[in-house]
Amino acid sequence: MELVREFRDSSRVNILKEKLEGFAFKNEVKIMEVCGTHTMQIHRFGIHQMLPENVKLISGPGCPVCVTENSYIDHAIELARAGFTITTFGDMIRVPGSYSSLEKVRAEGGDVHVVYSPMDSLELAQRSGKEVIFLAIGFETTAPTIGATVKKAKELELENFSILAGNKLVPPALKVLVEDRNLGVNGFLLPGHVSVIIGMRPYEFITEYGVPGVISGFEPVDIISSIVLLLEMIEKGEARIINNYKRAVRDGGNPTAQRIIQEVFEPVDSEWRGLGWMEGSGLGLREEYSEFDAEKRFQVDVPPPREHPGCRCGDVLKGIINPPECPLFGKVCTPENPVGPCMVSSEGSCSAWYKYG
Ligand code: SF4
Repeated sequence: MELVREFRDSSRVNILKEKLEGFAFKNEVKIMEVCGTHTMQIHRFGIHQMLPENVKLISGPGCPVCVTENSYIDHAIELARAGFTITTFGDMIRVPGSYSSLEKVRAEGGDVHVVYSPMDSLELAQRSGKEVIFLAIGFETTAPTIGATVKKAKELELENFSILAGNKLVPPALKVLVEDRNLGVNGFLLPGHVSVIIGMRPYEFITEYGVPGVISGFEPVDIISSIVLLLEMIEKGEARIINNYKRAVRDGGNPTAQRIIQEVFEPVDSEWRGLGWMEGSGLGLREEYSEFDAEKRFQVDVPPPREHPGCRCGDVLKGIINPPECPLFGKVCTPENPVGPCMVSSEGSCSAWYKYG
């Protein structure tokens, strides 16, 4: 609590605010945050309103539920309809797929459970004897615990547990974003939680494009000081990666977590909502763990995916529009009645804009 107070201290915030006010850019400067928790905190504390003229914060694909494509959700729905027990993190259950959601399938009698960790799914499989499939989504942050659970299932020789692999990797998405000249990102606010696992090195390639990045924590002082560091580099024409979250992120990341990911998973091409297919941007199970791969083990017919015609979640995730520019925002689409995933998840941009403005 002391630590939180220190990083919300108004006198420190005011000093940083003065620094922000000292910047003057002739041309527009775009800073992209690629972490749903940053998006939420920026809106919660009104940080986007403190920025100097010509500096714009845009949200990128930082919400794991939001970037999960409809075809994955449709697949999970068909597995539930086929009688498998589906376990998932909370937000996922309400995300609309092409034709339905896991919540609706549960109301129709499907066996769908919300769990707090993948290990809960494994325990459910042991306890119930049912065929349990865990929806493995998230970035590098959730991959180590999912990997550890798969390892445990192998150790226990569990035959009724598997995962629907859907984890995504942040650096390949950053490559697509930094190469998109139309988007014109001048600096990245890099995700604190992901960086705890991967460290600094995997981001270094973005500096080759002349674009700096700062790894940031989640309190107002963390975020504002990271923006100041980014603007200083942009002003000087420097491009470096700075770790501004040293109390949690080691430069080399977490080697134990990295080892688990490498042992259980391998990079695969993956489709992201809004960004499309990207090379090596997902994690699939290695051959040695294929007995836990629900996609390989169980065949179900999945209908062709479709997007809600009015939902602009894909454009929101790419930073092309701000949520209020979507014609459905706040009218047809609200947190109580979400049309797209960006309004469902507590880390979604539409949800952040709706809640905090
Ligand atoms: S406001 Fe709703 S419909 Fe519009 S982009 Fe966001 S999630 Fe999609």
